[in-house]
Amino acid sequence: MSRFRDNKFSSLKEYVPGEQPQDKKYVKLNTNESPFPPSPSVIEAVSSEEVSKLNLYSDPECKVLKKAVAERYELNTENVFLSNGSDEILNFAFMLYGNVNGTVFPDISYGFYKVFGDLYNIRYDAVPLTESFEINPDDYKNTGKFVVIANPNAPTGIALTLDVIEDIVRSNPDNVVLIDEAYVDFGAESAISLIDKYSNLIVCRTYSKSRSLAGARLGFAFAAKELIADLELIRNSTNPYNINRLTQIAGTAAIMQDEYYMDACKEIQRVRAITDNELKKLGFEVLKSKANFLFAKHKDIDGGELYLKLKENGVLVRHFTNERICQYNRITIGTEEQMTILIDTIKKIMEEEK
Ligand code: PMP
Repeated sequence: MSRFRDNKFSSLKEYVPGEQPQDKKYVKLNTNESPFPPSPSVIEAVSSEEVSKLNLYSDPECKVLKKAVAERYELNTENVFLSNGSDEILNFAFMLYGNVNGTVFPDISYGFYKVFGDLYNIRYDAVPLTESFEINPDDYKNTGKFVVIANPNAPTGIALTLDVIEDIVRSNPDNVVLIDEAYVDFGAESAISLIDKYSNLIVCRTYSKSRSLAGARLGFAFAAKELIADLELIRNSTNPYNINRLTQIAGTAAIMQDEYYMDACKEIQRVRAITDNELKKLGFEVLKSKANFLFAKHKDIDGGELYLKLKENGVLVRHFTNERICQYNRITIGTEEQMTILIDTIKKIMEEEK
């Protein structure tokens, strides 16, 4: 760190993303990417002709992409915001709303919430999940604070129902409630239908998981037009060309071939059920996931040790070191073949442990 830096950043703990190793090929089940490639429409759209136009800036209003997203979700374009990954929406929302009356989110959730909280010096309550790793909805009602909930939650995968989400949104009329639906396409209920009804709701989505475009960095949010205008204010005050030309084209082509992705989500759910069952047969405790990952622990093998042994054997999963969840590993659902390798590798490790 340099001597020139503002002191207010001296205690900032940065977000640590999951490993993206470039050295060898792993069965990569650690960052909740899709195991499936982008749809044929995307591969065709990002052509050498489009690459040859990279000397020109992208459309800062993302008109074509925004219209396609709005049509897909049957909303108006004034209710849609597009971003460079959904992390950018979270960043802007914490910047805008976090400090007004403070912020509340679950203690075990997406790690970036705490980082943004600290970055903007926000007074936040990280509310403990229940014994069974669930969100207690009452903790988020009538808070008078900016509320952030991932639904399904990460890394647990457990989802709240739409009724419960609506109760939370309704009970906080004077503050913003952001529902982070990064994983909603894998079997949870979306709150998008509430956008017309509640002027305090932001629903945040990403192309990184269910739409196989993690490497393109594209996120989107739905909200009342006043909230979208807030987000646009920050976007235009930081980086109006936040979505590059190729990503705009890829994102539009992807949404036009939506069936491909919805079928892939069904396949992930099918493989999730098989994997859940196989892990339980091996004695794992597995939380009930509505996401494209499972959160699992075993009484006979330490979570950190299992992570390392899997890595040595070429299978990468995600392990978190915080005390309450360090016995668990988060396992992304890949293809059926990848999950067979995972299960066989776990069997081998457990055999060696005996
Ligand atoms: N929200 C949650 C709950 C996530 O797990 C992630 C991905 N790590 C994100 C948001 C951000 O995703 P992206 O920036 O790739 O859209």
